[in-house]
Amino acid sequence: MDETPSLPGLPAPPPLGASALPPGTYDGSLVLVTGGGTGLGKAIAAEFARLGADLVIASRGEHHLRAAQEELASSGGRVTAAVCDVRDPDRISEVYDACGLPDVLVNNAAANFPVPAEEMSPNAWRAVVDITLTGTFLMTREFARRHLAAGTPGSVVNVGASYAWTGGPGFAHSAAAKAGVHNLVETLAVEWGPYGIQVNGLVPGLMPHQDMTDDIRGSLDRAEGHDRRQPALRVGSPRELGWAATFLASPYARFVSGHTLVVDGANWQRRTLVSPPVVPVREQLGREPFAG
Ligand code: NAP
Repeated sequence: MDETPSLPGLPAPPPLGASALPPGTYDGSLVLVTGGGTGLGKAIAAEFARLGADLVIASRGEHHLRAAQEELASSGGRVTAAVCDVRDPDRISEVYDACGLPDVLVNNAAANFPVPAEEMSPNAWRAVVDITLTGTFLMTREFARRHLAAGTPGSVVNVGASYAWTGGPGFAHSAAAKAGVHNLVETLAVEWGPYGIQVNGLVPGLMPHQDMTDDIRGSLDRAEGHDRRQPALRVGSPRELGWAATFLASPYARFVSGHTLVVDGANWQRRTLVSPPVVPVREQLGREPFAG
């Protein structure tokens, strides 16, 4: 008998627009969010804007950047849309030159699509690792070089994923890249702490949003009842990630560095007394047997 529907799960969050931080916490600050034109990046950017930050949202797609620029401008300060591929160090440098040195960098851009490892092409592997891991490093390196040269403090938040620790069957490229991103948080926090630069990680749980790719949405659609599959008995709201990001980069978290904060209602620690039967990744993705 299924009794979970009668259980409350974790309470719903406060409504969009609420904030734990004082109004104006980010007045006079510039915050750069990569991939800030879509999904979780846009939700993170919106929370910084509500608290007074000026924003730079940076990614490759000019069309959705422009749309997000308009939407985010209604939450507060100035919003600049910068077309930038995070794999391109010269372009990153141009964006910092043109937009100014941000006080906060949120490395949110990533690429991902499910594929059994035996079918993953070298190009697919390279593309995901280059965007997610190398792109994060290049953005952060340039941010730190400029702050070190200027003698100014800064804060970096790297958006990760819990399969950095557990492995991610069906997502070998992204899971390996996110493990690298997690490791960078710990290395760079120590290297740059003496210069006033904090580096933290932020890991979302399942937070569905309208910009999810068809591939990811297709994988989710194959499993019904996502709320009941989480210990919280609900999925997360993008604003819950935004609130965590604004806390981590705020003056109230100045002694928090090298830490990765997981916002997933304890889903990644979930274990069962008796494991369900193993279903091979090919079968989970609805693929035919591998024929070579
Ligand atoms: P998303 O909607 O697919 O957003 C990815 C963003 O990254 C897009 O704005 C994309 O813009 C940008 N991007 C991709 N390649 C880029 C490149 N080479 N240079 C610059 N920007 C690039 O993803 P999301 O679901 O919001 O996820 C955001 C972050 O949360 C990611 O780091 C993801 O791994 C992590 N995460 C999400 C979930 C979830 O439930 N949604 C769960 C765990 C972790 P362009 O295409 O215009 O470049």
